[in-house]
Amino acid sequence: MANKIHVKTDDNVIVITGKDSGKTGKVIKAVPSTGRVVVSGVNIVKKHQKGQGQNKPAAIIEREAALDASNVMLVCPKCAKPTRVGTEIAADKTKSRVCKKCGAKIDKLEKAKAEKTKVEKPKAEKPKAEKPKAEKPKAEKPKVAKPKAEKADKEGKGE
Ligand SMILES: [Zn+2]
Repeated sequence: MANKIHVKTDDNVIVITGKDSGKTGKVIKAVPSTGRVVVSGVNIVKKHQKGQGQNKPAAIIEREAALDASNVMLVCPKCAKPTRVGTEIAADKTKSRVCKKCGAKIDKLEKAKAEKTKVEKPKAEKPKAEKPKAEKPKAEKPKVAKPKAEKADKEGKGE
């Protein structure tokens, strides 16, 4: 079973333990299967790369190493504070992560930014229940025998 981790790619996080404690960065990669994340600018390791012929001299490459997801806290995009993440289940059963501090829906905020171009929603809406609105009394059986013309006139004035 995959571990569920509380951060996703592109989340802003703050490191809460270890040598990079206090650093913030963006999640470059989240690996739920190992429970680890790679955060930009955090947990930098130096990699010694061997030279390969004349075109590729030996070099020391600095790059981010993965760290345990439990070492980071999500930084809320709205209140900008490190926060715990709650889960809110909407009426349509979609889950969204929420900031425990300010209650902002984190995923919604992200989506708004990321999916600007997406316009149409083919999402099935709630099945429409009968409208209690009595918009068209016309369809009903005319119990009261009123002249049509008068009725139309009345409706027009009533608005
Ligand atoms: Zn917040």
